[in-house]
Amino acid sequence: MTENWLFRNALLENSSTPVDIAVRLGKVADIGAELDMADYQVVDTGGMLASPLFIDPHHHLDCAFLSEPPNLSGTLEEAIQINARLKESRSEQDVFEKACRALQLAVQNGTGWMRSHTDIDSISKLKLLHPVSEAKQKFNGQLDVQLVAFPQLGLIADPQSIDLLRLAMREGADVVGGMPHAEASTDDAARHIEIAFQIAEEFNADIDMHVDETDDPASRTLELLAEVTIRHGYQERVTAGHCCALAAYPDDYARRVIEKVAQAQITVITNPLINLYLQGRQDSQPVRRGITRVKELLEAGVNVTCGSDDISNLFFPFGRMDMLEVAMVTSVVSHLTRPEQIQAAFDMPRWHAAKCLNLQDYGIMVGAPANIVFLAANNAREALQLQPVKRLVVRNGNLVSSRDERISYNS
Ligand SMILES: [Zn+2]
Repeated sequence: MTENWLFRNALLENSSTPVDIAVRLGKVADIGAELDMADYQVVDTGGMLASPLFIDPHHHLDCAFLSEPPNLSGTLEEAIQINARLKESRSEQDVFEKACRALQLAVQNGTGWMRSHTDIDSISKLKLLHPVSEAKQKFNGQLDVQLVAFPQLGLIADPQSIDLLRLAMREGADVVGGMPHAEASTDDAARHIEIAFQIAEEFNADIDMHVDETDDPASRTLELLAEVTIRHGYQERVTAGHCCALAAYPDDYARRVIEKVAQAQITVITNPLINLYLQGRQDSQPVRRGITRVKELLEAGVNVTCGSDDISNLFFPFGRMDMLEVAMVTSVVSHLTRPEQIQAAFDMPRWHAAKCLNLQDYGIMVGAPANIVFLAANNAREALQLQPVKRLVVRNGNLVSSRDERISYNS
């Protein structure tokens, strides 16, 4: 049941004076000094920072907590090979339970929205989509999930995936995925992108692809994706995840690609924890970091955000479903140093991701849905530095997680 809440002494960003935030019928009813509201449950936050809930724009719920047998080489290729074997025999119940476990952690860490890629291919067919969709339904209202139908094995290399992609879109996937660099040649990568656009147009859906997740400077599908986006008039509707090879390109070619990405208004998602782990495995020192050119993309006006990508699986043995951790690592590894750059890192799993997921009414504003996480920090830098516990998590006016001993929360 939705209660009416009065959160006293909350710090809004870019302000040094705490205010009260009143929440009624799921929405922010008022913001101001010393509000007087009858019949509201009052919580004195003691000056905690009130942030809009976090957004995780790139995750894989379908392979959460899937770490056996271990990926001994630590490469993306071995992870994909083991995963292909495992998904043949996994039960839907196992996929559902592990996805729920990841979602529960995300809720506790103040995440209100997520975009999750689900493998669609000749091996798994829709066997992973169905249980992940059930997990999505279960968390509806606590954490909203957009599902990407992800043809990880390619559309030319694995042609059955083309019909399966259409079927997945009919059966509840929200976004068309892709992985053009999985194809055997540049021509096939171009065909892969064209087919994905055709399907996206049929369903009036956005596109979110895994792009050039490799250190190989010859992997040049980001440029293709930008060109096709412009040709199809799909600006602001396309997202490119990883884009590791952009870091390996010569500077002049990288500049040209970044210009095209900016023109195409493509969002770029970096998944720093995972690519620090998976990339550079063939290098001797100095070992490349596999992180896309975050700073140059930001400077070119590209919308850049960051994702968690994986939790405790073949691709990454760690992860906590904590977007503050991801933002801090993004800041460190991308050399986001100046105050406005650190602010940008904090904003990546918030406003930048909201733009990617096309969320309306994002932010703490009177009249907007009350989606707030309270943090013991005073500003962006402290939020990243201190990695504070997410004391109270409010979703659509409901308290969905509390680590505050004064407030009991029964899940
Ligand atoms: Zn991914």
